[in-house]
Amino acid sequence: IVREVSDGIRPLAERRDATLDIDVEFEESAQVTADRDQLGQVFTNLIENALKYGGTGGTVHVSISPEDSRFPGMIGVSIKDNGPGIPRQHLHRLTERFYRVNAKQSKEQGGTGLGLAIVKHILARHAGELDIASVLEEGSTFTVWLPLRKLS
Ligand code: ATP
Ligand code: MG
Repeated sequence: IVREVSDGIRPLAERRDATLDIDVEFEESAQVTADRDQLGQVFTNLIENALKYGGTGGTVHVSISPEDSRFPGMIGVSIKDNGPGIPRQHLHRLTERFYRVNAKQSKEQGGTGLGLAIVKHILARHAGELDIASVLEEGSTFTVWLPLRKLS
């Protein structure tokens, strides 16, 4: 799904002079049950954000996360940018509808401020989680966690 949606996003990456580095492989043992279109929307919103707010000439890296004891039995796909990062006090509000860290910048970038609220909503429907980590002047990592399908 990540690879499918990334084709549609490459023109944005080119306009931003950014590198979109998709590093995900299909793994037989790591499957999830999900709505394909909705998960496509999740990855589209997160990769577009990483490109929009990651600064020009940056790199957006999409990869499978190492296991994390906070999310047992789940698989994580992380979208990492090397942009300016997000000040700590904003992190817990990012998924609120219409919430923007920098109103002026977001106005220039366009959009409505709904992208992350939609991500949160879709992940909730999949019993998933969104984990956000950010370091100022280093960048942000948004990780999508989804329950692994139990293969018998
Ligand atoms: P829309 O997604 O509707 O086009 P938007 O991108 O402004 O608009 P969200 O995707 O919900 O809305 O993001 C909310 C805000 O979070 C953004 O306006 C931006 O301030 C901040 N943000 C999101 N992703 C990043 C990121 N990767 N780096 C820095 N800031 C980010
Ligand atoms: Mg957005």
